[in-house]
Amino acid sequence: MMIAYLDQQLRLGHGAEATPCLGGGDPGPELVAASQDFGGVIRALPAVVLRPGSAEDVAAAIRMALRSDHLTIAARGNGHSVAGQALAPGGIVLDMRSMGRIELVWSDDGQPCADVGGGVLWGELLEWGVRVHGMAPRSWTDYLGLTVGGTLSNAGISGQAFRHGPQIANVAELEVVTGDAERVVCSPSHRSDLFFAALGGLGQFGIITRARIPLYRAPPLVRWIRVVYRRVEEYVADAEWLVKGGVFDYVEGFAFVNSGDDPANGWESVPIGPGSVFEPDLIPPGSGPLLYCLELALHHDLNEDVEKKVEEMLRQLKYIKGLKFTMEVSYVEFLSRVNLSESESRANGSWHAPHPWLNILISASNIVDFDHNVLQPILKDGIGGPMLIYPLLKSKWDPRMSVVLPDSEVFYLVALLRCNQPYPVGPPAEELIAQNREILNLCESNGYDHKLYLPHYESQTVWADHFGRTWARFVDRKARYDSRAILAPGQLIFSRAH
Ligand code: FAD
Repeated sequence: MMIAYLDQQLRLGHGAEATPCLGGGDPGPELVAASQDFGGVIRALPAVVLRPGSAEDVAAAIRMALRSDHLTIAARGNGHSVAGQALAPGGIVLDMRSMGRIELVWSDDGQPCADVGGGVLWGELLEWGVRVHGMAPRSWTDYLGLTVGGTLSNAGISGQAFRHGPQIANVAELEVVTGDAERVVCSPSHRSDLFFAALGGLGQFGIITRARIPLYRAPPLVRWIRVVYRRVEEYVADAEWLVKGGVFDYVEGFAFVNSGDDPANGWESVPIGPGSVFEPDLIPPGSGPLLYCLELALHHDLNEDVEKKVEEMLRQLKYIKGLKFTMEVSYVEFLSRVNLSESESRANGSWHAPHPWLNILISASNIVDFDHNVLQPILKDGIGGPMLIYPLLKSKWDPRMSVVLPDSEVFYLVALLRCNQPYPVGPPAEELIAQNREILNLCESNGYDHKLYLPHYESQTVWADHFGRTWARFVDRKARYDSRAILAPGQLIFSRAH
């Protein structure tokens, strides 16, 4: 019945293509691909995958879902969620990669912007911006194989966010198709409630079909620096000093295992630049099981005396002298630095293994405690992938956006980006999920001011707790823009209304 209905209705015109699930038998590679994500833990087959060619196609798909009494719709960016957020069990998946147009436009006040389809990858935008126009957005993610619509539905954080805010704070205009099939162009000054609702809105209020992103001159060169710390107290003091007033354009960092035996998390994970090696003899005796690496970058021009500026800043930092690594790269090379890890991970099989990642935003006042009571006892042997810890500033985030943050002005992203070999070579996913739960339980029992980034919960009560005092606004926006709750069912926040 449903297949006949879909088959008949999915002829949307406007160039949208459809791959319906024929029920029973083999669902085919496209449906299987749309039934899973990077996390590799949750799977759910959709009824159909559509590749919209325009906002009107998206609206037509939504109207179709609204005509049924049970169909839901999930926009799928690049499927890089880790807990089924872009899945639509038995529903419609919109493969947003088909909306990949990029165009240079100028705002009324003369600001150059990129008008990009919701399915454009940040890496594609970087290539286009720098190679064609010598310009680029200024807020990034570490990894660029993510879609504009996907990260704008979360936040989009990297080492530039302390200065420019997350990606959701760097958008001039959105085109959104709401869950009630209304196509709206919105901005901070026009239909602003929908604009801010969609930013960090977990796909709950509309499908982002286009975003207008301000562009700035791309710097020719980047001085990329890593320095190593023995104690977390010194590491966080320097990191916070730099985000509050330093000259660097990028500030990030990570914890790593104080050992030469672990290529993913040990000494070897630190050096950058050809031929640079980690000298363990420089680590002071009595150092703990984890060390900390501050990662910095300074943009500069060809003829600029960058050395002096860098040395001036580094002189004031309390890293282990000698454990400093630097490299000169182009802007595109710097922003694409994670590509190498992706290639290695694909080659060794860990890319396709489950990724039970955990991303926590935690107040600066709790970060040292978190290190002593959680990181050091539980993760001293590493996690098979990066353990990012770096500070962000709340004042760079607009409170009208849907995303929720800890209460304090300075808070840290702690990202446990597990990248293990598939079981039985690596640990079973269930073990890692249990460890995540243990870490979150410790955050609760120690009373840390924290929020999950890229949150995933299974009941509305816990979602209400996550949003706290903004839950009422979130529910109100849902009623206003997706009254039948058909959008992004994989987030498990609202149930489809009949
Ligand atoms: P998907 O996973 O496909 O979708 C995410 C959610 O957004 C779903 O609910 C989906 O329905 C919804 N959605 C997707 N597109 C749209 C749209 N156009 N309109 C409305 N809703 C939409 N995050 C960071 O902030 N910083 C990082 O440095 C970073 N690095 C990462 C590295 C890797 C290797 C991976 C796997 C993830 C990383 N992330 C990072 C997380 C990333 O931001 C999320 O996975 C995010 O969901 C983007 O992925 P995606 O484009 O594949 O979206």
